[in-house]
Amino acid sequence: MSGLRRFFVKELSVGELELIGEEFNHAANVLRLKTGERLLLCNNTGVEYPAEIVSVEKKKMRLMVGEGLPCPNEPKADITLCCGYLKGDKTELIVQKATELGVKNIIVFDSVFSSAYVSDNKMERLTRVAEESAKQCGRATYPTVTYLPFQNALEQANGYENKIFACEFESEKNFSLTEISGSTFIVVGSEGGFSEEEREYALTCGFQSVSLGNRILRAETACIALVSVVAYGLGEWKR
Ligand code: SAM
Repeated sequence: MSGLRRFFVKELSVGELELIGEEFNHAANVLRLKTGERLLLCNNTGVEYPAEIVSVEKKKMRLMVGEGLPCPNEPKADITLCCGYLKGDKTELIVQKATELGVKNIIVFDSVFSSAYVSDNKMERLTRVAEESAKQCGRATYPTVTYLPFQNALEQANGYENKIFACEFESEKNFSLTEISGSTFIVVGSEGGFSEEEREYALTCGFQSVSLGNRILRAETACIALVSVVAYGLGEWKR
C-alpha cells in the first residue's frame, strides 16, 4: 500500500467515512484527489486503512474504508529523543528528521544555557511537523512532542534500558553506541550546551555520558547523528 497518499484522522472505522477539515482541504484542494482514487487513513495506532474516494463535495469527501493492516514502516526500535529547545526553526528540523529516523517520543527542555524558549504555539507547530513528516516517510504513527523542564525531562528515562547523555566536554570516549539493545533514551543539549551540574544530574539518573568525538557539533547535527547511529545499532535500518 506504499506510495498512496496518507492522512491522519482521529475517528476511524471500516465502512463509510467523511473526510473534513484540514485533511479534506489538503486532499481535495491541494492534491486534487478525485472520486475513485485511493488513499490511506491512519489514526496514530500503527494501523493503516485503505480507502476509496466515493464522492468529493464542497467541504467534505465521502470515503469507503477497508480493513486496516499493520503499517510495515512503523519503527521497531523504541527510541526517545530529549533535546534542548533551539532558536529559530532548528527544533522543527530535529523533529522532522527524528520522525523519519523512527523516534517514538520527543521531549524538548530548557536548561541553564538555553537561549530559546518554548510556547504552546511552538509546541503545537512541532506536533504538526511530526505528523507531516510521518505522512511523508510512510509511518502510521507520529512521535509525541512534549516540553518538560530539564530535570523532569531526564526523569522520563526511568525504565529505559539505555540512557545516553551526549556531553560536549565528556572525556570518556569508549562507550559503544552500536552495541546496545532495548529501549533507548537520548539527551542532547541546546546551542549553549550543558553545565557540569547538569552532567552530574544526568549521571545520578543513570545516564551514560558520551562524547561524539573531538569536534563540537551543532545541536541539530548531534541529534540527527546520534539518533541515526542508535537506530542503526538497534537494527532499525534492517528491512
Ligand atoms: N556550547 C557548547 C560548546 O561551545 O562547547 C556546544 C554545545 S553543542 C552546540 C549542543 C549539544 O550537542 C551539546 O550539549 C551536546 O549534547 C551535543 N554535542 C555537540 N558536540 C558534541 C560532542 N563532540 N560530543 C558530545 N556531544 C556533543
